Amino acid sequence: MFELKKIVRKNILDLQPYSSARDEFTGKEGIFLDANENPFGTLNRYPDPYQQELKSILAEQMGVKENQLFVGNGSDEVIDLLFRVFCNPGQDKAVTFSPTYGMYDVSAAINDVELSKLPLTESFQIDVEPAVNEIVKRDVKLTFVCSPNNPTGNAFPRKDIEELLKNTSGIVVVDEAYIDFSETKSVIDLIEIYPNLVVTQTMSKARGLAAVRVGFAFAIEEIITLLNKVKPPYNVSGLNQKTAIDALLNNKLYQSNVKIIIAQREELRQKLSDLDSVVKIYPTDANFLLVEFKNADDTYEALIKRKVIVRNRTKVVNNCIRISIGTPVENSRLITELKQIENEKSIVY
Ligand code: PMP
Repeated sequence: MFELKKIVRKNILDLQPYSSARDEFTGKEGIFLDANENPFGTLNRYPDPYQQELKSILAEQMGVKENQLFVGNGSDEVIDLLFRVFCNPGQDKAVTFSPTYGMYDVSAAINDVELSKLPLTESFQIDVEPAVNEIVKRDVKLTFVCSPNNPTGNAFPRKDIEELLKNTSGIVVVDEAYIDFSETKSVIDLIEIYPNLVVTQTMSKARGLAAVRVGFAFAIEEIITLLNKVKPPYNVSGLNQKTAIDALLNNKLYQSNVKIIIAQREELRQKLSDLDSVVKIYPTDANFLLVEFKNADDTYEALIKRKVIVRNRTKVVNNCIRISIGTPVENSRLITELKQIENEKSIVY
């Protein structure tokens, strides 16, 4: 049975968090002589430490309560904070399903947490029963499910995620960075049923704000409170909060961008599949394609020479390159360059 108090690090449960000057007075009007700010200027004040305006808009759009929301400096910050809340360094364990997003591994290493990589099946699915056994046997605190998964592109069935949630007593983190490009529904609604679920999303992908660094966690209020305790006081800048709010209010642009990217993805899939150097294109629910080439390393190098930068993933999926969907012009250029590389006949298959 999941019991939150049992899996939180004791020092975090006992932690008296930093209380910023603005925590004690939340009104907007007043003479502010409390935070050692410069009284002159337009960016001279510290931002809202709990991003209330951003949260109220997001909560309404996503159908959750404001206290079920955490805003991070990118979802990478959320991943790191989850390790800090739940995993005692040198003692507690985490699990990922491999191949997947590399930061889980790096964050685990930074926090001195042992991370087991359970292999996905050949069709990149989670082998649920052995996974549950492993998670229970090793008393795993954090299980990361990246859905849609980077770099394989597929989203995992909701029923598999529910099996993990039901049968394990640690936290299951579902990273939905790419969910906007998928026909599979988000699992955010499941936070009402499973107190051990944390869903992360980001404004870096479909919302087009990678430079801004805003990511989210959705979870029960008690988990959000723990994340708030551990985060740096002003982890999301005022400029970033404002930009994120503007983007959330501009749903038309977001929807039309997602539509274009998905249409481009299908066009690119078609054009790539006509190339001799391409062996296979995996199905995808994300804004990228995982493509098997006859010779991924040499194709990657040849593209770099032509100033087309893709992600060589051959070390994690044999002979595969991950290609992000660009603008129509960028995607055509990619195809042109790949055709020229084929015509040069300099790559040995
Ligand atoms: N999760 C996944 C699966 C990602 O691929 C990425 C970035 N590539 C992130 C999280 C990090 O996103 P953010 O920009 O919000 O830190």
